[in-house]
Amino acid sequence: MKNSNIMIDSDFQDRIKQFQDLIDQSNHIVFFWWAGVSTESWVPDFRSKDWLYNQHDVQFEKYQPEYLLSHSCLYNEPKVFFEYYRQKMDCRWVKPNITHKKLAQLEKVWKLSAVITQNIDWLHQKAWSKNVLEIHWTTQIVYCDECGKEFDPDILFTFKWDIPYCDCGWMLRPDVTFYEEQLPQKAWMDAVIALRNSDLFIIWWTSLTVYPANTLIQYYGWNKIVIINRDTTSQDRFADILFHENLWKVFGELKF
Ligand SMILES: [Zn+2]
Repeated sequence: MKNSNIMIDSDFQDRIKQFQDLIDQSNHIVFFWWAGVSTESWVPDFRSKDWLYNQHDVQFEKYQPEYLLSHSCLYNEPKVFFEYYRQKMDCRWVKPNITHKKLAQLEKVWKLSAVITQNIDWLHQKAWSKNVLEIHWTTQIVYCDECGKEFDPDILFTFKWDIPYCDCGWMLRPDVTFYEEQLPQKAWMDAVIALRNSDLFIIWWTSLTVYPANTLIQYYGWNKIVIINRDTTSQDRFADILFHENLWKVFGELKF
């Protein structure tokens, strides 16, 4: 038993060494994920916050999670939408983790050309990354759909009524791409260009068969791919180096 543990550890160290070499040799790295980097940062502490919200009469159980973050819910049942948003999407106090910091460092030494993310929590920017392509936009911009005026994102949490309104009387919304909405064209095109020019593609926690990853991957020249995922996926065979570990464990070992 002891021997097999040593084997696993030495194998992990071998792969870290290969990964480190690959990073050292690469100058146009692109990092992409579905989710997960941020969830390692998030403190799912909704229970302690419930006292703020449990006086409200919205019951989420009767809705599908996708509906609660959809265009239909935002415009047809804004009270439900904003109640859910305030409870589940409040990332104002979440701090970047080691992966965000390491990626920012890689960019600083001119090795990383872009982070493509579907996360909306602004954690890369908090870690001082510059080229963050948010293909679902971000919670950090709030605007009026009618007159275009922008507001501090805090307003969605501090507004005194159920639904936040602009001075012009129209409803505010976060600049996030919700279900049923189009992905932002500019971020998407920038992601395609970054991928076409990249020499190392690092993918975290996504299935390459699911949109938009399956579309994005077509633009990559299949140079080198590192896949990091907690579970086995059908795409593992595409990886030059494969990790079935948590991201923090892998990135915590890298030096740059
Ligand atoms: Zn307005």
